[in-house]
Amino acid sequence: MEDKKVVTRFAPSPTGFMHVGSVRTALFAWLWARKNNGIFILRIEDTDKKREVEGSIEHIMETLRWLGLDYDAGPDKCEPGMCYTQSERLEIYKKYANILIKKGFAYSDVSSLEEIEQFRKKAEEEKRAFLFREHRPENPPEWKEGFPLRFKIKEPKRTVWHDAVRGELTAGPEALDDFILIKSDGYPTYNFAHIVDDIEMGITHVVRGQEFISSTPNYIAVYEALEAPQPTYVTAPPIMGEEGNKKMGKREGAKDVLEYRNEGYLPEAMFNFLALLGWNPGSGDNREVMSREEIVESFDLTHIQKSGAQFNEEKLDWINKEHIKKLSPEQIEKNILEWLPEGMKNSKLVPVVLERISKWGDVKDIAERGKLDLFFETPEIQREKLIFKNSTPEKISENIKIVIQALGNIDENNFTTENVKDALMLVANMGESRGEVLHPVRYALSGSDKSPDPFIIASIIGKNETISRLQKAI
Ligand code: GLU
Repeated sequence: MEDKKVVTRFAPSPTGFMHVGSVRTALFAWLWARKNNGIFILRIEDTDKKREVEGSIEHIMETLRWLGLDYDAGPDKCEPGMCYTQSERLEIYKKYANILIKKGFAYSDVSSLEEIEQFRKKAEEEKRAFLFREHRPENPPEWKEGFPLRFKIKEPKRTVWHDAVRGELTAGPEALDDFILIKSDGYPTYNFAHIVDDIEMGITHVVRGQEFISSTPNYIAVYEALEAPQPTYVTAPPIMGEEGNKKMGKREGAKDVLEYRNEGYLPEAMFNFLALLGWNPGSGDNREVMSREEIVESFDLTHIQKSGAQFNEEKLDWINKEHIKKLSPEQIEKNILEWLPEGMKNSKLVPVVLERISKWGDVKDIAERGKLDLFFETPEIQREKLIFKNSTPEKISENIKIVIQALGNIDENNFTTENVKDALMLVANMGESRGEVLHPVRYALSGSDKSPDPFIIASIIGKNETISRLQKAI
């Protein structure tokens, strides 16, 4: 445990829905805060107005709510003097910009786009990396709004830093450049705003993706210029898609995490699945199905992996099924009944359905594919399919008659799976071949030889319908 109170944040830009990659990052930051009785902040990074998509903030909050990732402070949980939406914090960035100007770490950039383009082209021709700092003006004018403000790298040096996941990282002086702090539209860049916010909000651990590693030397230079303590960097591994082993992103078709909710996955299963995308409880501990509490309890930064984490929807289905099994029979019944279409909401179907699903959406799916029709309509049957192996029609029809008699003795109110099974097995065990009894009964009741057990079908459709289907077979 840390000495200082742990403060983490999830800092999405409101540019649309959240896919597994962004939610997994949020989860790791949340887990680390909860594990240490710390604070988890939701901060909205909306300084790039061109990329903003309406409704994203509400959508992000809804996703966090679904997964139970509660935040202690956020856009809808502000304190006096502290809000968590960047576009409402412009004065604070200006204050920090002025501190940097005063310290000689920032200057007004008056070069035109054409000029910068020329510098870039020239560097390209000379096969050198383009560095703005090599074209820094000698005596820039005082900074005025409407012009970009740039950070000044005073000392191009090698940067060495520690990442809780990647260990020691290092980059040469070419990684440092005079980057833009405030744009000509008056908004800060992500590169600047997130540092100011992380300082102001007392963030101790920055959990984010590997795409930020290459800019970290620049960020560190700003912390040094401001003489502010640096957070611990925690680089979460990329999530690799199932096809082609490429990083999963929105552009690669990663879907909105709320779609999984709509498909009937349990939030606790999604939480469990996401936690295992790049983290495990440690060597010798191969638990895969874990509750939220167990995950919070076991979470640590040392077991976050460096390499890409493989996304696998089959595993999600498996984990979901395991979490379904942990629900009470009442909860299972309630959900299955809810997902069954009108006219099929029969609680006797619950065990049959449960065996065939891994998420609630499958309930609807199997019903729509006609897999439950046999419980509601008398199936079509073909005479020859009733015959078991090289048995004869006479033998089969005789057996069915005996079964009808045996079932006739069971009271309608006691027509349970167990009682039907006992009666059927008694008949089956009397003859030479059980198959000569069980096969035709199964087929007569279901119209298929791959169906739920005949006893189960019988108990669901009831005594009258069972006997009527068997009579039809004769
Ligand atoms: N706003 C950044 C993004 O959405 C957040 C990066 C960070 O966590 O610092 O990618």
